[in-house]
Amino acid sequence: MAFEGLADRLQETIKKITGKGKVSEQDVKEMTREVRLALLEADVNYKVVKDFVKRIKERAIGQEVMESLTPGQQVIKVVKEELTSLMGGEQSRVAVSERPPTVIMMVGLQGAGKTTTTGKLANLLRKKHNRKPLLVAADVYRPAAINQLETLGKQLSLPVFSLGTEANPVDIANQAIEKAKEEHLDYVIIDTAGRLHVDEDLMDELQQIKQNVNPDEVFLVVDAMTGQDAVNVAESFDQQLDVTGVVLTKLDGDTRGGAALSIKAVTNKPIKFAGMGEKLDELEAFHPERMASRILGMGDVLSLIEKAQDNVDQKKAQELEEKMRDASFTFDDFLDQMSQVKSMGPLEDLISMIPGANKMKGLKNVQVDEKQLVHVEAIIQSMTKKERVDPSVMNASRKKRIAKGSGRPVSEVNRLLKQFDDMKKMMKQMTNMQKGKKGKKGKG
Ligand code: GDP
Repeated sequence: MAFEGLADRLQETIKKITGKGKVSEQDVKEMTREVRLALLEADVNYKVVKDFVKRIKERAIGQEVMESLTPGQQVIKVVKEELTSLMGGEQSRVAVSERPPTVIMMVGLQGAGKTTTTGKLANLLRKKHNRKPLLVAADVYRPAAINQLETLGKQLSLPVFSLGTEANPVDIANQAIEKAKEEHLDYVIIDTAGRLHVDEDLMDELQQIKQNVNPDEVFLVVDAMTGQDAVNVAESFDQQLDVTGVVLTKLDGDTRGGAALSIKAVTNKPIKFAGMGEKLDELEAFHPERMASRILGMGDVLSLIEKAQDNVDQKKAQELEEKMRDASFTFDDFLDQMSQVKSMGPLEDLISMIPGANKMKGLKNVQVDEKQLVHVEAIIQSMTKKERVDPSVMNASRKKRIAKGSGRPVSEVNRLLKQFDDMKKMMKQMTNMQKGKKGKKGKG
C-alpha cells in the first residue's frame, strides 16, 4: 500500500505521546522532530514539511492541547486535522455546467495515466452519477493513443469521438462538443497529447485548446510514483494552464506518498481523484480526511462501506443471508461470495481500512495469501454440480478426482471440505440460538 513507511513512522511517533497524562514542550519538540523526519523520508517537499511542522508545534504547545484533560489524544487530533488540511481539507467535486455538456480537459505527461484515467473518469461519472459522457481523442501525434481510447470506449460501451491524426486538436474538441449537444450527452472528456517532458509546443497546443473550448475543468494527471517530480510537473502545468484539479494515479503502488502530501500545498490545487489500479473501476474520489485517517492508522470505515455497497450485489447478499439461515448454503454460494469480496480489491488494502487493524498483532503486516484463494476456487471448480450442493456424496475416489482436476493435494481438498462442514454447523447453531431466543420471548 502507498504511505506504508510514513504511516508506520507517524503511528510509532504518536503512540509515544498518546498515553501521556501530561505533555511537556519537550515532548512536543521530540514528536515534531520525528514527524519532520518521517515526512522528509516520505519525499514530501521540504518547504511543505517546514510549514506543517511549524503549525503542529504551535498548536500542540498552545492551550488547545496543554490545558486539555487528554493532551495525548488532543495532539493526535491536531496532527490529523493538519494532515487533512495539507491534502486539501474538504473533498472537492467535479463541476456540473449549467449548459451541458460539461467539458473536462485532461492534461499530463505521457505515461502518467491520462488516457486510462479519461476512461475511468467517464466510467465513474456514468456509474455513480448516471451521466452520459463522450470520450474525445485529441492526441493527434500518436495513433496508438487514439486506438487506446477507442479500445477503452469499446470496453466500457461508451462513445468515442475521433477525427484521426490529420485533424487539428482544437477542431476535434469543438466538433466533439457539437456532437455531444446534438446527442444530449452531458460530459465531454478530452484526452489531450502528452510528452515525456514539459515543453513549449505542448503547452502552446494545450493553451489553444483551453482558450477555444473554455472547459469547466482542466484535470492534470500525475503519477504518484514519481514523487517530487510529480510536484514539479504539477507546478509547471498549473502555471501555464491554471488547472482546476489534480488526479493522482498509481496510488496503489508503494509510493512513499510525497506527491499526495505536497501537491495541494505547492500548487494550491485540490487532488480530486486517485487512481488505485489499472482496472477501469479503480478510480476513487480523493477524500483528504479519510486518507489522513488511514495514514494515522485510524482506519477508513466510510470507504470500506462504500466499496462494499459498490461491489456487493444487494439482492445476492440477501439471498445469501437466507441460505445461511436455513443452512442450504452450497459450494457455489461460497464461490460467489469469494468473488464478491475479491472484487472489492486486494484484501490487504481492505484490512488497512479497519480502524486499529494495524495495531492488532495478528493483522499487522498480515500477508494475505491471495494464492490460497485461487487454490480454493480451483478445488470448488473441479467439483461436479452435485458435489457442490451436497458434499456428503464425497468419497475417496471423488476427492482424488477433484485433487487431480485442481492440481492440489487431497489433503487440501479434505481441509476445505472440513472447513465448509464446520461453517455449516456453525450456521445451524446460530440459527437455532436465534430460534431459541424467539421461542423464549414468545412464551414470556
Ligand atoms: P498516458 O500516456 O498518460 O495516456 O498513460 P496511460 O493511460 O497509457 O497509462 C500508462 C500506464 O499506467 C498504463 O500501463 C496504465 O495501465 C497504467 N496506469 C494508469 N493509471 C494507473 C493506476 O492508477 N494504477 C496503476 N497501477 N497503473 C495505472
